[in-house]
Amino acid sequence: MGSKNLKAFAVYSEGSLPELADKEAFEAAVRDALDELLNEPFVKDEMIPYGTPSFFDAMNSLGLVPAYNWQRTTTDFDSTLGYKNYHEKLEVSVDRCYNCPIGCGRYTRIPEGKYAGLEGGGPEYETLAAFGQKLGLRDLYAVTAAGHIANKYGLDTIGTGQIIATAMEWYEKGLIDQEFTDGLDLTWGNAEAIITLVERIGKREGKFATLLGEGSLRAAETVGGDAVKYVMHVKGMEMAADGVRASKSEALSHMVSPRGADHLRPYGPTIDCFAYQNDEFGVLETKDPFKEEDKAWVKPFEELSMATNLLGTCLFASITLAIRGRTWARLLSAATGLKYEYQDLFKAAERVLNIERLFNMREGFSRKDDYLPERFSTEPAPDGPGKGQVVQQDVLLDEIYAVKGWSSDGIPTVEKLAELGLEEYIPLVLTHTGEKTA
Ligand code: SF4
Repeated sequence: MGSKNLKAFAVYSEGSLPELADKEAFEAAVRDALDELLNEPFVKDEMIPYGTPSFFDAMNSLGLVPAYNWQRTTTDFDSTLGYKNYHEKLEVSVDRCYNCPIGCGRYTRIPEGKYAGLEGGGPEYETLAAFGQKLGLRDLYAVTAAGHIANKYGLDTIGTGQIIATAMEWYEKGLIDQEFTDGLDLTWGNAEAIITLVERIGKREGKFATLLGEGSLRAAETVGGDAVKYVMHVKGMEMAADGVRASKSEALSHMVSPRGADHLRPYGPTIDCFAYQNDEFGVLETKDPFKEEDKAWVKPFEELSMATNLLGTCLFASITLAIRGRTWARLLSAATGLKYEYQDLFKAAERVLNIERLFNMREGFSRKDDYLPERFSTEPAPDGPGKGQVVQQDVLLDEIYAVKGWSSDGIPTVEKLAELGLEEYIPLVLTHTGEKTA
């Protein structure tokens, strides 16, 4: 889109909305969905009053927020970047998608100091972590300013923050110097350099910022040496700020996500860190976040998240496990007049997840691309609740491939495709694996 100077699509219809098949049943299901949503403790006590910034403190308490380009985890950033300081120091109003009863977003204005008057959407949780804790930056106003500037240029704050975090570690390790950075001192927490760099990336100004604008994996090739070791990505996508050493389920969902380190997939810590249970996933006991084995429930959680996407609804309603699969099925049944159970939704989602996998397979992706950066296997978390933890990535992959009905190379088996009614893709798989078509 960027190369075509295309900023956005807008679509509207002059037709009328389709009629609900059973209006009464639909409205009853909406009431129940709202009841589930608004009475879910995390939604009620954290998300509605404090928005996504409330995640910062909650996740830090479990060792889930990365610091210093994922070298560390929990630090004392809560006092400055946590939700209390956020709501006290910034001028804040609620920002919500149309008709949303939660309103997880925040619109802020910086009231004083060097960046006074800058305003815009966020910073949301991911931006606080990306421009704050990941970069060793404790100045809330500077973090907010970096977020607003990134938004002004249409930059993804997660990716931009992660790219700068990588560059800061290159600087720390002596792989790049001030001559390479066009004069910027990329010492951790240097607010001025961070903000200047965001501006420059947005404008593609200077050699260094232009290089970073290509993404950290491509930039690492130019930096050379062992630069790639410090690029925190999966399948080329920069990692968001969802801890992986302290939640092995989160590690796994990043690893097998078809888009790479994608934070818009299931949020495993809901179950293995925040101790939620869910009978639809077969999770009826507290799960251990550090244990690689026993993560089979990530599969149905992935399917619930995908089902939410297929329904065009907000992922927060499912990753908080607020609205149940059963309720989504009731809503869809009442709207369409077709009978759905939650298992049908999960099955539809599984079909999509398998087709995504086949797409990647066709484009050359395989098990080798399902790994987190080496750091997470070889460098134990030095601090926080996950102290000492590394991720045993092969254990996670072997287990989830088996549960998904994929081969040990991560390719959907013929039996799985037949079970899902995806027989048309069987020749593609057989060609890929070198087997003969029956
Ligand atoms: S629809 Fe989702 S993303 Fe939008 S305000 Fe509501 S909870 Fe937040």
